[in-house]
Amino acid sequence: MSNAELNIADIQQLRMGKSLVIAMDGPSGSGKSSVSKAVATRLGLAFLDTGAMYRSVTWHCINANIDFANATAVEAAARTIKIEQSLEPDTEFVKVNGVFVTDAIRDPKISASVSSVATNLGARAALVRRQQDIIAASDRRIVVEGRDITTVVAPDAEARLILTASEAARMRRRGLQLGGTQSAAQLAEQVLARDAKDSTVVDFQRAADGVYTVDSSDLDFEQTVAAVINVVRQCVNEGPAA
Ligand code: C5P
Repeated sequence: MSNAELNIADIQQLRMGKSLVIAMDGPSGSGKSSVSKAVATRLGLAFLDTGAMYRSVTWHCINANIDFANATAVEAAARTIKIEQSLEPDTEFVKVNGVFVTDAIRDPKISASVSSVATNLGARAALVRRQQDIIAASDRRIVVEGRDITTVVAPDAEARLILTASEAARMRRRGLQLGGTQSAAQLAEQVLARDAKDSTVVDFQRAADGVYTVDSSDLDFEQTVAAVINVVRQCVNEGPAA
């Protein structure tokens, strides 16, 4: 479906002047991050990448020599460090305690350790609170993407959806993102092993009641954005998934 068919002007009127929280969960490599940014841009909404917050805490723990096994110290870090991040979909920056970490938090070393923060329930509670404060401060006009947004962070969002893709499609996309330098085994470790660890604390692979699913396996980027915007329109017009 093209933009013309989607009628962007009509979509931008969606709940104009009213709250419109779009909660989007999904596994790595589903295209969640780039698709949710594009949706935010087209609908004129703010954008929150919650994965960047888990990555920021991970970066801080490594930088400050905090042992991931020390659950209390990791939780304290999640509660107290200063995280500043762009809430605009077209600009990306993240700062931890005043230091720019935009690129550093994407390092494979961070990806390999981030599950240690994600499986710390105290750290999760602290980050969920911060995320809910950010949503409130946006006047509830925001796209929020992560793993537990539809269920824990914003179960009351006007639109809730899971973006999925087959394992093969997710590994192919992550491989392209990483410049085609990784072996199949390395990609499997990065994509599937991290999702398996994450799944022990949040179920982001299956849609909860009322949550729509968009499967992007056979869709290109534009088609996926269009499918998500159609689901948002459906949520606004018809309410949660049956
Ligand atoms: O989305 P991204 O790959 O940047 O997320 C990094 C990690 O942060 C995930 O693998 C997961 O462990 C954690 N995460 C989470 N809950 C969220 C967002 C991210 O547990 N809402």
